[in-house]
This record gives sequence, C-alpha cells and structure tokens, in this order.
Amino acid sequence: MKTIKVNVVTPDGPVYESDVEMVSTKAQSGELGILPGHIPLVAPLAIGVVRLKKEGKTELVAVSGGFLEVRPDQVTILAQTAEKASDIDVERAIRAKERAEQRMHDQHAEHIDFRRAELALQRAINRLAVSEGKK
Ligand code: ATP
Repeated sequence: MKTIKVNVVTPDGPVYESDVEMVSTKAQSGELGILPGHIPLVAPLAIGVVRLKKEGKTELVAVSGGFLEVRPDQVTILAQTAEKASDIDVERAIRAKERAEQRMHDQHAEHIDFRRAELALQRAINRLAVSEGKK
C-alpha cells in the first residue's frame, strides 16, 4: 500500500514521524483527508485531532492549532502544541478544563479574557477526547 511521510513538529521539537496510509485532520475550513499523491496545500489548523492510519490501525495526535503543509510525498504539521494520545496527562487536562470553565463562569469580572478561557477549554476537551480515543 502507498504511504506518505508525516511529521508533526512543535516549537518544543518533533512529536510524531512515520510513513502512513492516510492523514485526516481538522483545518479551519473543515475536515481534510490526505492520501499519498495529494496536491500541494497549506492550511491553518483548528484545535483538534490528527488521525494517522497505518497498517489497519489509527493513531491519534491532539493539536492546538498551527499549519498543515502537504506535498505529494510528505505532510508536515507545524503545531503550537501536539501530544500523542498516550502522552496526554489526563489529570492535567481535567484540571485545565475545570479552570477554564471557572474562568468562563466568572466572565463578568472585567479582567477575565473570555476568548482565552474558551480556547483553553477547547484544548482541554480535545486532549481528553484524544486520550480516550473518542475523536
Ligand atoms: P495547562 O493549563 O495544563 O498548561 P494549556 O492548554 O494551557 O494547559 P498549552 O499551553 O496548550 O497548555 O501547552 C503547554 C505545553 O504543555 C505544551 O508542550 C503541551 O504539549 C503540554 N501539555 C498541555 N497540557 C497537556 C496534557 N494534558 N498532557 C500532556 N501535555 C500537555
């Protein structure tokens, strides 16, 4: 079966590298599925999951925005943060979720940045879903 090389990198370093049969992820414009030989493309990513199909299995990586660059033989994902499902600290994500929910609840207090809390909540929910394999 044909494969395409995938690299997921963050400012802290590489997170994932492999040859896979298909990559699917959530661009800001919607879901994208990439097979080997895909036309070149650059797209901004949303907070979401990168699904990597390999030898009949699907691996998941949580990303919190960034860019996807597709070339016919290679996909590069430059993510703000990225974690493989097995590297996600569930307790930490639960605490981050609770903190963000509290901040959104307290939004009437002028110093609370609602959008920032909302994004933190999305990151936490995404990490929890990816760690449970639900995405
Ligand atoms: P927190 O409030 O727990 O730091 P956050 O969403 O604000 O959550 P980020 O700024 O997105 O955290 O990430 C900071 C760094 O911590 C990144 O390297 C990211 O990969 C890592 N990270 C954040 N949350 C988790 C988690 N639950 N499990 C593993 N790594 C995490």
